[in-house]
Parts: sequence; C-alpha cells; structure tokens
Amino acid sequence: MDKRVLVKFSGEALAGDEGYGIDTKILDYIAEEIKELVDNGVQVGIVIGGGNIIRGVTAAADGIIKRTSGDYMGMLGTVINGIAMQEVLEHKGLKARLQTAIKMEQIAEPFIVRKAARHLEKNRVVIFSAGTGNPYFTTDTAATLRATEIGASLLIKATKVDGIYDKDPMKFDDAVKLDTITYDQALEDHIKVMDDTAIALAKDNKLPIVVANMNEKGNLLKIINGDTSKCSIVK
Ligand code: UDP
Repeated sequence: MDKRVLVKFSGEALAGDEGYGIDTKILDYIAEEIKELVDNGVQVGIVIGGGNIIRGVTAAADGIIKRTSGDYMGMLGTVINGIAMQEVLEHKGLKARLQTAIKMEQIAEPFIVRKAARHLEKNRVVIFSAGTGNPYFTTDTAATLRATEIGASLLIKATKVDGIYDKDPMKFDDAVKLDTITYDQALEDHIKVMDDTAIALAKDNKLPIVVANMNEKGNLLKIINGDTSKCSIVK
C-alpha cells in the first residue's frame, strides 16, 4: 500500500450546488473519506483550491485589480477553505494541521517541510494552504509541488468526473475514458488534466497523478489499495 499520499480538492468541490462558498455537508463527506484513509494507516496531505471564493484571473478581468493582487486574494481564499477543512477533520476526531505558504501565524503554521513530515508520521492530516505562495501559479501546481516535497507516492486529484477523457465528457457523448496516459499526452491541449506547470513538475519528479471521482464513496482508499477502475492515471 502507498503509505503517503496527497489529495487535491478544487475549491469548487466545497461549494455544493451554490457554486460559491463552503457547504459543510460536502466538507463532512470529504472528511469521512479522509478518515477512512487515516484509519487504514495512510498518511494524508491535502491541498485545496480557492475557486469557490475567488480566482486571480477573474478578479483582474476588468483591469481594475492587478493580476498579482487578484492572485493573492485567491491564495487567501485557499486559506479560508483550509481553516474549514481543519475544523471538519477535527470534528471527525482526526488530528489536523493547517500550514500556509504565506505567513499568518495566528491562523496557521508556516509551511515547513520537515514539520509537515513529522505531522504526517504522527498520523496528522496536513493541509497545505495559500498555494505555492506565488502569483501566476495554481493550486494544482501547489499540489504537485507539496506532493513531491513530502515524498508522496501518489497525487490524487479528486474531481467530479471518473477520470481523464479524450474530450469533454460533459459536452460529447462519444468521449472515451483513458485509463492511463503519459505526462506528454497530458500536456496535449485537448486533455485538461492540470495546467502545464503542474504536469511538467510531476513529469520531472516521476510523480503519478490519479484523477478520480470524489463522489464515489470509498474510491480514495480503493485507489491507494490498487483498484484503479474508477480513475485515470498520468504516469
Ligand atoms: N493562486 C496563486 N498561486 C498559487 C495558487 C493559487 O496565485 O500558487 C491563486 C490564483 O489566483 C488562483 C486562486 O489562487 O486562481 C485559487 O486557486 P485555484 O484557481 O487553483 O483553485 P481551484 O481551481 O482548484 O479551486
């Protein structure tokens, strides 16, 4: 069994039907899935996006707010989500630690990789917030970076779809699911797994990326135990 994994959730995943904000019922569901992993001896790191609150590109769209400022607003959004995630994990009886790439000591620990590793060894779930701490990056890149830094054997991107398709399954009935693809295929324009920076970093570090349906109960543990029927893998 893979002992240490990093799971990435998009901000939108937390929003529920509203498309905005945080739905505690969804958080509760996610925490249950994470608890199953911890109960089975898996060390879990989490990266959450911020798209349910604000995205830099959108905030800067009309030219009033600068892109860099919009990106910092986006990174702060991921901290808001991280605080909520820490709460729900503790509510489930798990131990959790929120770390942030941008210092805010009253709210979260600064990101320190050795400290994160120590938490993971003690079966604490570590939530990495504020992305990479730099504008112009995404939380997918942050997830790839943190997964590599903590020596995770797998990065699981938890999404609303079963895996990677040759075209958008929401738009095309004849879209075909691809079980395994290479990093180079993932860099092709029509396959949107993650942005190119994230894929390139994963490729350099030979980090396998699994794209999986988070709404399939028990799927995360199944994947870690080697059942990849409900996901796709980039490796
Ligand atoms: N962001 C950033 N640097 C990072 C990670 C995130 O500037 O390293 C900002 C960026 O503006 C992004 C926002 O935070 O739009 C929210 O992250 P993301 O869009 O990746 O969230 P998701 O789509 O996963 O919800």
